Amino acid sequence: MIHTILLKHRPKGKPSISDFEFIKEDKELTITDGEMLLETLYVSVDPYLRGRMSDAKSYVEPFELDKPIHSGIIAKVIESKNEKFSEGDYVSGRLDWKTKQVSKGEELHKVDPSKADLSAYLGILGMTGLTAYLGLTEIGKPKEGETLVVSGAAGAVGSVVGQIGKILGLRVIGIAGTDEKIDMLKSKFGFDAGINYKTTNDMKAAIKEAAPNGVDVYFDNVGGEISDAVLFNINKFARTINCGAIAVYNNTEVPTSVSVRPFLIKNSALMQGFIVSNFEDKFPDAIKQLSTWLGDGKLTYSETIVEGFENIPQAFIDLFDGKNKGKMVVKV
Ligand code: NAP
Repeated sequence: MIHTILLKHRPKGKPSISDFEFIKEDKELTITDGEMLLETLYVSVDPYLRGRMSDAKSYVEPFELDKPIHSGIIAKVIESKNEKFSEGDYVSGRLDWKTKQVSKGEELHKVDPSKADLSAYLGILGMTGLTAYLGLTEIGKPKEGETLVVSGAAGAVGSVVGQIGKILGLRVIGIAGTDEKIDMLKSKFGFDAGINYKTTNDMKAAIKEAAPNGVDVYFDNVGGEISDAVLFNINKFARTINCGAIAVYNNTEVPTSVSVRPFLIKNSALMQGFIVSNFEDKFPDAIKQLSTWLGDGKLTYSETIVEGFENIPQAFIDLFDGKNKGKMVVKV
């Protein structure tokens, strides 16, 4: 039996289970020359998928209605007529939300389960680890002794950004949505301070208290009011890395926000958005660095692993309620 998840409706506001359709097909998949048969093992759910579910113009094409959704997947090769891949190999890449599928292997690469847990290739050794490392180093250009603030700090990208900040000798402050997450930031990931944005009335004052010398680098995963409060505290020549804006992804109207221009002008500050694929030529070196830090025990990671193919849409929706710590992954 092959299970597939399709996009049924373009979500209005927060996605709901009824936006997805689950189908089961009792059919045999066969492969021809150059193809291979893959069995899905781990599926990455990511906030950016929300953007692809709407039909607004973006950096990637929207998902088509009544077609399978796709995201980062780790799969096992169960049969191969492709010379680059053999039966028993594990591969990573963008694949359909299907339990089994045929692929030509384009844009898939092998991953080694003896070097790291397979799920780690979707997180710290995959897209979110690369986003953290390259966003922080290429745009943030952090310098020892500076202060780094990270929003969405307990998530896949944020938890890695903060740890790299510590490795590079910065004071690191994380913003997240539960006290448990704040404890984890400090005890597991070595952050210097944490702010629970859900229980803090005056974020501007809380950031000032946690960053008495001001903010030099802001790694922004959430946008919205949290980011406005950080901007009130930036230093001269500060760098803001616009990585994500999950706080506004489900908005149905264009959000109004504090105008950032005066903060940027008076502080000669930089604000830059990016898509991790901008830095594709740097991926091999970045993975080498992340692997070295992991091997040396300087970097660690958390995962929230949800079991069951049928739970992929709910795991995705749960990102918007902060139900994950670290990388949200579905084990099939
Ligand atoms: P994640 O942080 O692991 O998961 C999302 C987290 O966002 C949740 O756990 C939740 O934590 C927080 N959140 C949800 N709604 C929020 C709200 N209204 N206000 C504040 N926080 C909220 O996800 P991720 O994969 O690491 O991605 C983090 C951000 O980076 C996303 O915005 C994503 O789109 C972006 N991203 C960008 C790139 C790129 O190339 N530019 C690549 C990867 C990811 P709390 O409990 O703390 O609320």
